[in-house]
Amino acid sequence: MNSGPLSLLSQSSLQDYVECSLRFKLRYLDRLSYPAVESEPALENEKHQQEGEYFHRLVQQHLIGISAEQIGRLANTPNLERWWSNWQVFRGQQNFGSIYPEVTLSAPLGKYRLVAKYDLLSVNDGKVTIYDWKTYRKRPRNEWLSARMQTRVYRAMLVQAGAHLNNGKPFEPEQVEMIYWFGDFSDDPARFEYTSAQYKRDWDTLLKLADEVESASSYPQTEDRQKCAFCTYRSYCERGVRAGDWNEAETETQAEELFDVNFEQIGEIAF
Ligand code: SF4
Repeated sequence: MNSGPLSLLSQSSLQDYVECSLRFKLRYLDRLSYPAVESEPALENEKHQQEGEYFHRLVQQHLIGISAEQIGRLANTPNLERWWSNWQVFRGQQNFGSIYPEVTLSAPLGKYRLVAKYDLLSVNDGKVTIYDWKTYRKRPRNEWLSARMQTRVYRAMLVQAGAHLNNGKPFEPEQVEMIYWFGDFSDDPARFEYTSAQYKRDWDTLLKLADEVESASSYPQTEDRQKCAFCTYRSYCERGVRAGDWNEAETETQAEELFDVNFEQIGEIAF
């Protein structure tokens, strides 16, 4: 097994840690590759995930200057066509200001470095907006999104490490807003504003988690077996060989996180 020291934390690794510390260990400490498909039907879900990744790349390319016409020609599957068309309408309704697509920010967190990769940051009129594109098949509840590590890490990190986007002055939490835009629910984005009290609570939680990760000496399995149905390590853990059926996913967590796009997985598109 390929164990090695861990130096970076991200919203994904922290999310894994809070959901199942064994999954965190297998994925980030042992670096065990995915031994099983996450859900059935496997091919269909894999295609959806690849399209989601491709869509992120298309939007990024457009934001750095490739014409909408050129992008439109590449959005050549029904999903891509629909998301791209919806995104253009959404963009027309936004007052973007100065835009920073696919920005990475990082800051020390205890003994680690916390890294956050943003789809888009937009600075306008004393306000900074975090945009995150989601190609989920269901619109998650705002309560679910609000509790996600991504929502907490992304806003806190911007306050912590975004001063260079604000003439050298850290953003006040009250200047920050995060918007999740959904390709299939384009008229219903989720918006999360921020306050100093939330920022303090978030950063304290993150510091505490980093300490826990550092001092952990055991990595127990989650007691919530629902989390195992869609976990790639379920055969390793003897928690079922067959993947859960996406259509039967009972919770939003199970259903949505399968289609989350991880930047590290996104390849380049040749134009
Ligand atoms: S199968 Fe269950 S117990 Fe095993 S790593 Fe995945 S979530 Fe944790």
